[in-house]
Amino acid sequence: MSTGRSGLLRISKWVGLTLCILLLVTWVGTYARGVFIRVYPNHVVVSDGGVRFLRYPIAPYRPAEVTWMEESLNNMHFLPHVVWSKQFLADGSQAGPDWWFDLPFWFLLLIFGFPTLVAWRRDRVKPGHCRSCDYDLTGNESGRCPECATPTEPAK
Ligand SMILES: [Zn+2]
Repeated sequence: MSTGRSGLLRISKWVGLTLCILLLVTWVGTYARGVFIRVYPNHVVVSDGGVRFLRYPIAPYRPAEVTWMEESLNNMHFLPHVVWSKQFLADGSQAGPDWWFDLPFWFLLLIFGFPTLVAWRRDRVKPGHCRSCDYDLTGNESGRCPECATPTEPAK
């Protein structure tokens, strides 16, 4: 059976690996220092091993900003977690965000890591097969793949 080694698979395995390494480095970094990103009217906090998205009600415009967190979050959830937190004050105005959710880094790593692992498994060169199109080269001595004309690897 010739499944073929597609260029897309080759790209996605490297993109996936890069992404996973970046996630891992960021994950470790969040314990040292958190970052707070405000893009009106949403807030994103990356801190303490997770990413928290907060949705605020429409309020007077404030420009986008990115700042370091002054202190760490002590309530970042270990599991993906949604909180509906709409609260109203006595005068009818809203306090706090409409809702927010936490995404832990282990969860993000799982989401991106699993397909990356599959891509790496599927894209590996099988012994005795063409490294370009996966054609079975058993008994082939022409030095070229009969399917795609890629020179075969010299015998080791
Ligand atoms: Zn080939």
